[in-house]
Amino acid sequence: MPRKICENCNERAACVLRYDRSILCRECFCRVFEEEVHQTITKYELFKPGQKVAIGASGGKDSAVLMQVMKILNERYNYGLTLYLLSIDEGISGYRDHSLEEVKFHSNNYGLELKILSYKDLYNWSMDEIVAVAGRKSNCTFCGVFRRQALDRGAWQLGVDIVATGHNGDDVAETVLMNMLRGDVGRLSRCTAITTADDPSGIPRVKPLKYQYEAEIVKYARHSKVRYFSTECTYAPGAHRGHIREYLRAATKIRPHVVLDIIKAGESFEVKDGVKLPIKSRCTRCDYISSQPVCKACLLLEGLNTGRPLLGIGKTKEGRVKKYKTIKIESGEKCGKTDDCCSKEKEKKCEINDDEIETCGNPAAGLQAKDLEKLSIAAEASDLF
Ligand code: SF4
Ligand code: ZN
Repeated sequence: MPRKICENCNERAACVLRYDRSILCRECFCRVFEEEVHQTITKYELFKPGQKVAIGASGGKDSAVLMQVMKILNERYNYGLTLYLLSIDEGISGYRDHSLEEVKFHSNNYGLELKILSYKDLYNWSMDEIVAVAGRKSNCTFCGVFRRQALDRGAWQLGVDIVATGHNGDDVAETVLMNMLRGDVGRLSRCTAITTADDPSGIPRVKPLKYQYEAEIVKYARHSKVRYFSTECTYAPGAHRGHIREYLRAATKIRPHVVLDIIKAGESFEVKDGVKLPIKSRCTRCDYISSQPVCKACLLLEGLNTGRPLLGIGKTKEGRVKKYKTIKIESGEKCGKTDDCCSKEKEKKCEINDDEIETCGNPAAGLQAKDLEKLSIAAEASDLF
């Protein structure tokens, strides 16, 4: 069988590009990958010369590849950026402590200043301590809410203009599908945004890897010898984990560009006039952006500090999920439960505000039990694609 050669330089081929099936050698593949990220950065004007940029660094493959590519492109194309690394230590022994060792290696290797903020320092609770009192059902809710604030606080402390995160194309496509399954119109309309620069609620975040396939990030890491930590979080949700990712993998086999197609579809969504979206204001306790008088992090902390750890996640004292709250309606208005209803109260679903959650990249992280249940049901309906 003849040896496959690179279509670009006639060297020995190492891989096939997912979207157009080009056959490339290691060097040409890495160069093409870097050029694609460069095109994303320039097309969407993600950075301005002179800006200080914090790269969200977890030690995993996406952030490790992002660090290397940003460092290379900043020098190759004179972006004029000052790069920093920003890590959040959730306090998960056997997981985050090890992955942070990788980040420290990268910090030394690339000569980039590293800032690590821990939940213990910020909130006086580590995730290990939270799981010990609240159990393992809602750990990702605590973790996601605290991470969102922690990233912003770390960025403020570093004095950066912008935060670059390692979200890849598969992550964005998964988010589109998850928001669709949850009927979360507000998030659906903006989850594909490559930048939050239009959102005045904090330091802008950008996703330079938004159009890169996860499989090609792994290939890039392998071919350019980027070190990364690949062990799963100790508290990652087990049974439902990765259903959406499994969907995408199965769909990609039939239609290789399904990830980019879903992103494109997500980018085209528009919210109809009249659909109610959360209004952002400030938390009355900590001044962080919130659509409620008290932000989710303060509510969760209050629960932890007063021995009621499930307080902020919609659960009653008895530990059952409180699905509904009652709201008063005007006299004469019907609750809608039955056609001839005459009750003076109607029930409205109680929802967590997902804007206050930052997921860790785990596709099921940051979801509540009710969401996971929905995903599980949807996963069984295998004709989705
Ligand atoms: Fe936190 Fe992610 Fe682990 Fe959940 S899976 S506890 S969000 S690090
Ligand atoms: Zn608050």
